[in-house]
Amino acid sequence: MIPKLTADQLKDFISQRMRMSHIYQPVMLKTLIDNDGEASVEDVSKALLSYDQSQVEYYSLRTKNMVGKVLANNGVVEPVKTRNKIVGYRLNTDDLTEPQRAALTALCDHSIEDYISKRGASIWGHRGPDSGYVSGSIRYQVLKRASYRCELCGAHEDQIALHVDHIIPRVKGGPDDLSNFQALCMTCNTNKRDTDDTDFRGVLDSYNDREDGCIFCDLGAGRITGENELCVAVKDAFPVTEHHTLVIPKRHVVDYFDLYQTERNAIDAMLHQQRQNIMDKDETVTGFNVGINAGKSAGQTVFHVHVHLIPRRDGDVAKPRGGVRGVIPTRQSY
Ligand code: 5GP
Ligand code: ZN
Repeated sequence: MIPKLTADQLKDFISQRMRMSHIYQPVMLKTLIDNDGEASVEDVSKALLSYDQSQVEYYSLRTKNMVGKVLANNGVVEPVKTRNKIVGYRLNTDDLTEPQRAALTALCDHSIEDYISKRGASIWGHRGPDSGYVSGSIRYQVLKRASYRCELCGAHEDQIALHVDHIIPRVKGGPDDLSNFQALCMTCNTNKRDTDDTDFRGVLDSYNDREDGCIFCDLGAGRITGENELCVAVKDAFPVTEHHTLVIPKRHVVDYFDLYQTERNAIDAMLHQQRQNIMDKDETVTGFNVGINAGKSAGQTVFHVHVHLIPRRDGDVAKPRGGVRGVIPTRQSY
């Protein structure tokens, strides 16, 4: 048995020793204290939920715009207003006796249970891609199958929360079979449109696509100046200016416009990182040209996407005006 804490020791923990990385600890303690020292996991999660303003705001709007209106129109409730603003509702009845209250509450409970048992978890489907209820065992199996990584960008559960949801959405007839579930990180799940039913597991496999003989599929470690999950940065072998860098997706893709959004995100992050590195080590850099040659007509010579990051310095050419317009030299200046 661990020794029991006195109220003063608990006070000392809360005020001095509790190291908070979120509001979780004090909310849980408050819930336990309010419930005579013991609360269910569900009670603690409900208490946490009540602090999540995005949830509270969502249901405040539902209350005022939908349910409050309907019940008021039926003469069952009336709004309580402060300076013309609805702040609550009052039941439109005389005082109820205790037995009346119990009977009416039981009737409400019955209606709720009956509705849920007929419609199932889909009644929460409007809350967005991950709001449809996914059972604990499905969630576990999907996460295990995905090795606890986002099936789109590869991020691990330790880095970012993973959502388990339908590949083909339920609103489009997607079944509740294991094969129709995927694990996506919060970022990828939010970026992917609700209507998009691409099987992202195929996308994940394709990140490993490499082409024999492609110089950008087989870059030696020597020139690499940066790397993330989906792309690398290398020094250009024939630099236009000092520190000329190429940002290259790992997957063999010919054309910039065939990249996945996640790859563009990865490339964009890498461009920022490389730009900062270059500025940190070379104070003479005062600007950049960022460019992509997409297609032979546009000057592409290596047919694996790469984004040029070309540092520029005051006075490196006599007339910099127009920059990338110089792809058609006679039209650079205007
Ligand atoms: P593109 O004309 O296709 O937009 O650009 C190809 C770029 O790749 C050129 O800037 C060229 O200097 C660079 N490049 C060509 N071969 C190699 C190589 O083997 N290694 C690296 N790091 N860059 C290369
Ligand atoms: Zn390649």
